[in-house]
Amino acid sequence: MEKIVALCKRRGFVYPNSEIYGGNQGFYDFGPLGVEMKNNLKRLWWKWMTVEHENIVGIDGAIITHPRVWEASGHIKSFTDPLVECKACHHRFRADDLAEKKCPDCGGELTEPRNYNILMETSLGVIEGEKTKAYLRGEACQTIYLDFKNVLQSTRLKIPFGICQIGKAFRNEITPGNFLFRQREFEQWDLQWFCHPRQMEEYFEFWKKERMNWYRSLFTHPEKLVFYEHQKLAHYAKRAYDIQYSDSPFDGKEIEGIHWRGDWDLSRHGEFSKQDLSYTDPETKEHFIPNIVETSGGVDRTFLFLLIDSYTEEKERIVLRLHPLVAPFKVAVFPLLANKQDLVQKAKQVFLSLKSEIAVTFDDRGNIGKRYYSQDEIGTPWCVTIDYQTLDDNTVTVRDRDTTKQERISIDKLRDFFKNKLTAI
Ligand code: ATP
Repeated sequence: MEKIVALCKRRGFVYPNSEIYGGNQGFYDFGPLGVEMKNNLKRLWWKWMTVEHENIVGIDGAIITHPRVWEASGHIKSFTDPLVECKACHHRFRADDLAEKKCPDCGGELTEPRNYNILMETSLGVIEGEKTKAYLRGEACQTIYLDFKNVLQSTRLKIPFGICQIGKAFRNEITPGNFLFRQREFEQWDLQWFCHPRQMEEYFEFWKKERMNWYRSLFTHPEKLVFYEHQKLAHYAKRAYDIQYSDSPFDGKEIEGIHWRGDWDLSRHGEFSKQDLSYTDPETKEHFIPNIVETSGGVDRTFLFLLIDSYTEEKERIVLRLHPLVAPFKVAVFPLLANKQDLVQKAKQVFLSLKSEIAVTFDDRGNIGKRYYSQDEIGTPWCVTIDYQTLDDNTVTVRDRDTTKQERISIDKLRDFFKNKLTAI
């Protein structure tokens, strides 16, 4: 983990937030490479949800909702974690994170656990004393329930259908830590699948498999992704599974949850808002509250697990064996020598000819070996070198990150070569 955290900072994947002020625990910024990789992930998720499946549409809801939403959802009452405090040093911890009943910092005695609400508060309004308490959303999915009726009325969708969303969530975690794993501000990707109660079994199984297949398609070690079935369930849930990444510092911790939510969410919001959130089947005229299968995953946790999964140390190099569609750059272009104008010029031409269609970077610093290692470390799948032969026959070498094998390709075939590689995945 320390090596990955250091690499992330050194190469511009992830920086600690507000570092010049000493940091801000539980908050991180994504740097130039990190934002590319994160956007790649979000695009892949979005495309897979909305293009590869029928009957799924997206929304992008507000972060702050009406405060009653969190009463209806149960968060104000029970979005809590057990907090203990050390009687000696007054450091606070999440009781269920501790292996022993003593302070991990000074060994002191701990208080009895008390429930601590992790919803983040803010206030709305401009007049002091008349401000209304509001909450930054503790989970992104609530906005989907709020917009269920709007989506139904403004589209021609019929049940079963899904609404998906990628968005920020905020939690005042007692012990943020483990880098991106437990933050106070993070991003979730959610699908809420609305169906007839009779279809729940079928769709629960369907989405469980689909989501696992999606994660497995992106990881270098798909066999490390496993299901964990929850034994302790929320009172409304019939079944719940986590997708976990095993053989890592985060064994037994979830990347995504697949939850059987039944009619809990729409019933509660119907009751609290006094609006009718039921559905009438246009053919059978049957009237019912749609049931929900939820898939709720963490963008940041996926990002972190992909780094853990792809990080490889070899004799002379560090390689991120990232899936090419996830890698920040797909191709790096180099002139063999930085001080030979004709090579540099040709390399710039190749770089510019690829730039509008493929995520490509240019590098002419140091020697060629160093440039390869530098690209391996950030997961760039292919490196293109312009050498003296290029000036004679218009071919370049393409080096593969994983095998380090090189092949010669004609410049006019280069764009199609990479596009074919990327679409074949
Ligand atoms: P955990 O038990 O690990 O706290 P959770 O059960 O509270 O997770 P959910 O409420 O189901 O998590 O949220 C859905 C997803 O959001 C999780 O699978 C995880 O990937 C992500 N997530 C939850 N809390 C955090 C956090 N503090 N930092 C980063 N990602 C998070």
